[in-house]
Amino acid sequence: MNIRPALPPIVCLLSMLVPTGHSAVSTGTPFYGDPPDQTHPWAIHDRNRAQPKLVVPGTFSTAAQPGKPPSDAIILFDGTDASLDKWESDSKEGGPTKWIVRDGAMECVPKSGYVKTREQFGDCQLHVEWAAPVAVKGDSQGRGNSGIFLMGLVEVQVLDNYNNPTYADGFAASVYGVNPPMANALRAPGEYQMIDIIFRRPVYDGDKVLDPGYVTVFCNGVLVQDHTPIEGPTGHMKRTVPKAFPAKGPLKLQDHGNPVRFRNIWYRPLPPRAVEGGTDGILSTDVTKAKRAGIAASIRADAATLAAGSNEQMLRLAESLVYAPDTATSRKVEQLAIAYATVVKALSAAALEERKAEVTQNLRAFQYLAKANVFPMTFGPKITLEQISKSAGWDDKK
Ligand code: MG
Repeated sequence: MNIRPALPPIVCLLSMLVPTGHSAVSTGTPFYGDPPDQTHPWAIHDRNRAQPKLVVPGTFSTAAQPGKPPSDAIILFDGTDASLDKWESDSKEGGPTKWIVRDGAMECVPKSGYVKTREQFGDCQLHVEWAAPVAVKGDSQGRGNSGIFLMGLVEVQVLDNYNNPTYADGFAASVYGVNPPMANALRAPGEYQMIDIIFRRPVYDGDKVLDPGYVTVFCNGVLVQDHTPIEGPTGHMKRTVPKAFPAKGPLKLQDHGNPVRFRNIWYRPLPPRAVEGGTDGILSTDVTKAKRAGIAASIRADAATLAAGSNEQMLRLAESLVYAPDTATSRKVEQLAIAYATVVKALSAAALEERKAEVTQNLRAFQYLAKANVFPMTFGPKITLEQISKSAGWDDKK
């Protein structure tokens, strides 16, 4: 028979030995990995951290068929006349571009000028496919030349370098005038080249460089630019110098006098980096502190939805203290923990054994909280549960 001892009134109110069955969280265990610190708002393996957003992946392109972009991609050109309206002339007069749509591709009409997107954006994953004219004309920089201008400022070169040498820093997939590609992975003229770019613009605070910005490029799946630092807007003949960029700019494609074709152009905006207010990565102590306060508040809001005084609510409130201190929460947890320890201490050996899992869970929580300096190592309920665990022969060490 399992007879529960008479409880002090406060403990009766707590109903803390009755699990509520609340199961909102199934993504990990609290009181587990290393706690948050000065520059990391999250614990290791933190179950409170948001799940990655769902993106339905697309399909890869073939020579004949452009692939399908991922579900969250912003389409800039999909082969239709309508999507050409997302582009305009970059000439002084502006207005609609004179580039044409032919066979599902937008094609440069020589001497019509650059095109640019009406939309402006900054950091991104960008996908572009281009094909040089089948009829090979010219050499070096004169053969199938165009360019992908990130934010209209940094050119990732488009050039038919299939059996066509040129200066290395002007090669296809070079950051023009800055850094040659690590390989020539081009297909023959007329075939589509699949270009994937990860672009991070330079970030400054006044004159201070917070992040120089980087360009990573894959050409037909081959890594050709590996986090290449940006050295300012690219240019011809002149060495460029780093400078601050605006937050956004248009994507431009170059008219270099060759009828280069483009298809399947899309991008995915990237989240801000830690240096510009992002909340992943190594953060400043101020940002970390603010983020930890926000996480603590969110956990306390969740705790408020749990049965008042339940074991589960105590643990959830205790969890919040790992992120940010709060005197009232701390007092409440301590009160509940003392009451809990009192109840457990009074249990018969048989009743205690039935609650082994719960008592062990709470002991681990109290030990974690002490290790994280939320409570002192001499925290009363922790000591009590340690004694109980020891005398019951529940040795955690295997
Ligand atoms: Mg070019």
